[in-house]
This record gives sequence, C-alpha cells and structure tokens, in this order.
Amino acid sequence: MVQVDCAVIQRETSTSDTGPVRTCIGCRRRELAVELLRVVAVATGHGGFAVTVDTAGNLPGRGAWLHPDQRCLRAAIRRRAFGRALRITGPLDTSAVGGHIDRIGVRDHPEKRTGSEEHEHTVKSR
Ligand SMILES: [Zn+2]
Repeated sequence: MVQVDCAVIQRETSTSDTGPVRTCIGCRRRELAVELLRVVAVATGHGGFAVTVDTAGNLPGRGAWLHPDQRCLRAAIRRRAFGRALRITGPLDTSAVGGHIDRIGVRDHPEKRTGSEEHEHTVKSR
C-alpha cells in the first residue's frame, strides 16, 4: 500500500464540522463531502467516457468522491477506482479532473503555487 497522506488537507472553513461524509476513491480516507470533489462520468460520444468534476453538485448519474489532490487522483487512476466507482468498463478520460485540481490548486503544496507563471510547461506525467 502506498501511504498517501491526505489528512494534511485541512481547509480553514471550520464551520463545517458536520455534514455528509464520503470516502475518497484515491486514498480511501473518509472525509466530509464538502472537502471532496464529486466526479461523474459523462459519455463522450465515442464509446468512451470522460470524468468531469461536478462543481455545482447537481450533475446526474453515479458519482464518486475524490480529494482535490493530484496524489489522490493518481492513486485513483492507478487502481482504476474511477471505473469501479462510476461503473464504467470502457476507456475513461480523467484529464479534466487533473486540470480542475491544477486550477484550484493543491493546498498542501504552497511552494508549488508560487510564481506559477514561471512554469508554463507544467507537463505532468500522466
Ligand atoms: Zn484522498
């Protein structure tokens, strides 16, 4: 087992100590749903599916939950957790999730967020 420490993701919005709890499909930690991304699979029209982030929380369909953390995303991809959680057996394009996490930033890596314009080629090995 790869130890993925997602517990360091602690947002300052401390008002939500209660609420629905979901399990991150990447690191399998239980977390308040408000701390997680809800993702759903949408058909791409080419026989495949793309995983999209349900930012508004109102997309229909079966959803999965993931920390807004590239490590959890990678872990979920590696163990094919998206397909299992979303009941998808075909090819899944998860690039939109990675892009979303990049946009909102990973809060426990503040050093990576400094001078982001200097890193125009933040090409990550998928
Ligand atoms: Zn996680």
